[in-house]
Amino acid sequence: MTRDGLTAKTPAEFGAVCCICRCWTLAPLPVRYVERMSGAPITLYACPPHAETLTPAPNPGELEADT
Ligand SMILES: [Zn+2]
Repeated sequence: MTRDGLTAKTPAEFGAVCCICRCWTLAPLPVRYVERMSGAPITLYACPPHAETLTPAPNPGELEADT
């Protein structure tokens, strides 16, 4: 182990809030992409147990024709 391993800043916390159960999940899956007129689009995430219960919706770039 190096000294940096003990003194370096910890990595940013990764994860997201599930849009169904509102619990923090460390393995978020993007399930919805919401375009907004007033600002940047929003990506909604779900935890793995809830993501498999939702109907899949396209994410950005999935509907664009292949070139
Ligand atoms: Zn959930």
